[in-house]
Amino acid sequence: MIPGPADVVVVGAGAAGLLAAAFAAGEGRRVVLLERTRDGGRKILISGGGRCNILPSEVDPRWFVTDSSPHSLRNILRGWPLQAQRRFFEEELRLALALEEESGKLFPASNRARDVRDRLLEHARARGAEVRFGSALTGLAATDGGWQLDLEGGASLQSRLVVVATGGLSVPTTGSDGTGLRLAERLGHVMHPTYPALTPLTTTAARWTALSGVSLDARLTAPPDTPDYNRRQGFLFTHRGFSGPAVLNISHVFTRPRDGEPPAMLASWGDRDRGDWERDLNEGGRVHLATVVRRHLPERLTLALLDQAGVPAERPLAQLRREEREAVLGALTALPLPVTGHEGYRKAEVTGGGVALSEVDPVTLESRRAPGLFLCGEMLDAFGPIGGYNFLWAWATGRAAGLGARRRLTI
Ligand SMILES: Cc1cc2nc3c(=O)[nH]c(=O)nc-3n(C[C@H](O)[C@H](O)[C@H](O)COP(=O)(O)OP(=O)(O)OC[C@H]3O[C@@H](n4cnc5c(N)ncnc54)[C@H](O)[C@@H]3O)c2cc1C
Repeated sequence: MIPGPADVVVVGAGAAGLLAAAFAAGEGRRVVLLERTRDGGRKILISGGGRCNILPSEVDPRWFVTDSSPHSLRNILRGWPLQAQRRFFEEELRLALALEEESGKLFPASNRARDVRDRLLEHARARGAEVRFGSALTGLAATDGGWQLDLEGGASLQSRLVVVATGGLSVPTTGSDGTGLRLAERLGHVMHPTYPALTPLTTTAARWTALSGVSLDARLTAPPDTPDYNRRQGFLFTHRGFSGPAVLNISHVFTRPRDGEPPAMLASWGDRDRGDWERDLNEGGRVHLATVVRRHLPERLTLALLDQAGVPAERPLAQLRREEREAVLGALTALPLPVTGHEGYRKAEVTGGGVALSEVDPVTLESRRAPGLFLCGEMLDAFGPIGGYNFLWAWATGRAAGLGARRRLTI
């Protein structure tokens, strides 16, 4: 155990904290990593369906969502580019990565999230960080020479510098319950309202919940708020509403606090655009409308869409009236799906909002309000789409905060 005050205490052994501790440690610096759970990195363990989608294969800062300045976000991401991150995992951690071609996602070649968590923990320890599990931070106060950290159970700890990497509010069973967000707010940081993001959406419309289990590709839009990251992706009807990557990636449009009504969510089904469907419907002849649609879409969805359009499934194409063709094209390419709620933090992969990016130095992530305090990971006001972007953010900001603290010790 490290005697006396630490040089750096990192709070939270999740993705960001593990990187922060590893980069802060070394050359005899006294670095302690505090973690409230028994083992840390629990979101890494459940990520990517237990495979951990560790990184994407391409990145564009415009795909990230923030209420802060996009310029600050870009500066932070620029600090550790994707290819450098990839090299860190492959060369420094010796963790072989494999590209999943169809999704463009990178996974550990072993397909085991546990390998990622374990290698990161080993690496932080090998660099000299002391890891203390079962230690929950409850309070943080500036002292003359640094910080006092109060822990659950009454113990306390002194440190020159503190890195807070306690995550957001999503899936609280993994250990993140928003402690860091509350402490940052108490220390006077400007906060953007938090909201669950990358979370399934719900509906009370029986027509759509009756399709529970149907899955296909879809492109979802919500004009004028369609996210920049918008492509055809997996869509799943559930007994409570809508899920799958296409839904999670647009969910923030409906969960983000806003003035006024959210826009409508419009679905274009399958891998076809309006022109493709127009050609099909213009075929004419005696072939039934449903026969043409079910060539490309699941049977149950086909019938529900035609019913929604108010056109009999058995109508021969040659007898389709102009307004019927328009109604069918609308249901196939711009169907408004009624969103009445969402699954909240319980199912959210990330937290939107948080500490405003203007509150930290974009290079060191040192707080502009509280010198000697560094903030990183999900508690900062940014998140990306499904596909490894949120770990990319956690790795980049964790490393920046660790290096920032290390640099600060020499000043
Ligand atoms: C189901 C699921 C799947 C996901 N899959 C992917 C994926 O495949 N790819 C991807 O890029 N992203 C994925 N994400 C998102 C990703 O997991 C997060 O963006 C990332 O883990 C955030 O890292 P973090 O270190 O900021 O926070 P966290 O990982 O939440 O870590 C915070 C840590 O701090 C600890 N802590 C909290 N409060 C205290 C306290 N008071 N004292 C001490 N310790 C504390 C927690 O126990 C936790 O270990 C997924 C998320 C979920 C929920």
